[in-house]
Amino acid sequence: MTRFIFITGGVVSSLGKGLASAALGALLQARGFKVRLRKLDPYINVDPGTMSPYQHGEVYVTDDGAETDLDLGHYERFTGVSSRQSDNVTTGRIYSEVIAKERRGDYLGATIQVIPHITDAIKNYVTSNLEDEDFVLCEIGGTVGDIEGLPFLEAIRQAGNELGRDRAMYLHLTLLPYIPTAGELKTKPTQHSVKELLSVGIQPDLLLCRAEQEIPESERRKIALFCNVIQEAVIPALDVNTIYAVPVSYHAEGLDEQVCRYFGIDSAAPDLSRWQEIVERVTAPEGEVKIAIVGKYTGLLDAYKSLNEALVHGGIANNVKVKLDWIDSEIFESEDAIHNLEGVHGILVPGGFGERGVEGKIAAARFAREHNVPYFGICLGMQMAVVEAARHMAGLEGAGSSEFGTCADPVVGLMTEWARDGVIEKRTADGDKGGTMRLGAYEASLRKGSRIHEIYGETTIHERHRHRYEVNTNYKGQLEKSGLLFSGMSPDGVLPEIVENPDHPWFIGVQFHPELKSRPFDPHPLFTSFIAAAVEQSRLV
Ligand code: GLN
Repeated sequence: MTRFIFITGGVVSSLGKGLASAALGALLQARGFKVRLRKLDPYINVDPGTMSPYQHGEVYVTDDGAETDLDLGHYERFTGVSSRQSDNVTTGRIYSEVIAKERRGDYLGATIQVIPHITDAIKNYVTSNLEDEDFVLCEIGGTVGDIEGLPFLEAIRQAGNELGRDRAMYLHLTLLPYIPTAGELKTKPTQHSVKELLSVGIQPDLLLCRAEQEIPESERRKIALFCNVIQEAVIPALDVNTIYAVPVSYHAEGLDEQVCRYFGIDSAAPDLSRWQEIVERVTAPEGEVKIAIVGKYTGLLDAYKSLNEALVHGGIANNVKVKLDWIDSEIFESEDAIHNLEGVHGILVPGGFGERGVEGKIAAARFAREHNVPYFGICLGMQMAVVEAARHMAGLEGAGSSEFGTCADPVVGLMTEWARDGVIEKRTADGDKGGTMRLGAYEASLRKGSRIHEIYGETTIHERHRHRYEVNTNYKGQLEKSGLLFSGMSPDGVLPEIVENPDHPWFIGVQFHPELKSRPFDPHPLFTSFIAAAVEQSRLV
């Protein structure tokens, strides 16, 4: 029997609802249950793929090629369960589907309305594409009271009735702000938030209360009384110093126990030793390496969420703290700024879009190559390393990417046709921007004896992609002759997936996003290897 836990948030945004959901998923999993996490996003975009990272943080890509909310990254990192397109739905997607059905005539005769047509479509998303999960955790994006969220709240209210209360639970995440002048945590915003939920017919069963300090028993009692829940179901969610401490901390406060109690499930306490070990490694590392991330969206760390975490995982694997120095690549467009890279133990140029700052990324790749500093180029970071090699190793001074206009030697160019599982995908330069990149998991064949082969320990890999441009194989021979090895290609040999510099301590560029598949308890081999190279480098400088 699949049970559904609907997770809403109140009071303010950014309370860590995604992390709380992921942590509860991990706890239920540690109790031996099969879980799946889902996110319902009330915004009108069909998916976050067309949004600026400044608006909505990173776009998380799944194996099946969905561009999704970054919370799905938390879900995967905490549970190891691969997400799918059907695990993230937005208002835009729901309406697109309902309107397409209306045009087809599927509802002939009916007036299409939010209730029941939109709410039915939402419920259908919540309960479809499941595989005997014990629990489906369904997070509603935004904050209770948002206009866009109403159809979703109505849908989960109806779902609760239809499933029956023994299969549905409502968890509400709130904040108890600390008011220094009163010296108290305040419960009123939580009371109001629950009232707001009640006004749409949802009585929460469990309250997870974020607070920066211990919640006194008297306040828990008060919240229980005013919000109509039992006192044990008011769970303190205190700040912790690493996100990987969240499952252990919420367990200690009784979260998973209360969920089991609600559903009447008798289950043994979970084994959290692997989480405890991760927390120990993160909080007590034996050394430190400094990595410069030369990117564009450095003002908002959510824009590189998975990258940040994958680097932490690389640190866990090597027992070191990874200190990140976020540098806006634009500064390297003036030559004297390159000294900012002196003394770092590794340079990483992440993915990105648009021309701004690309010359700075090329300069950073050149610095890394010439000074033997470990270099990791991801997607755009790989493409810019190829441009750098073309210009300064192969002597193609006019090398560039056609993403930034015409140039003499487009060593990176727009891909208009490629094969996916034997099916040809076609694109044009002026086609739709939404959902049309090369997206999701693709296979790559690694060259035997290359460094990348040594790192993965196998010759066939699957990694997730999200890009429109590709390294142009017309230049492959010339670039290889000048010393840049194409060590990973698509199985048909058409698309370059990995380049490396065999004469360098660690210089690798990958067209895909390995950070999306790294987990704290299963760090991605590329990040493990990159941080190991940075540790080596730290011994030299
Ligand atoms: N802008 C580049 C492209 O579309 C790289 C994309 C990325 O780094 N994810 O190919």
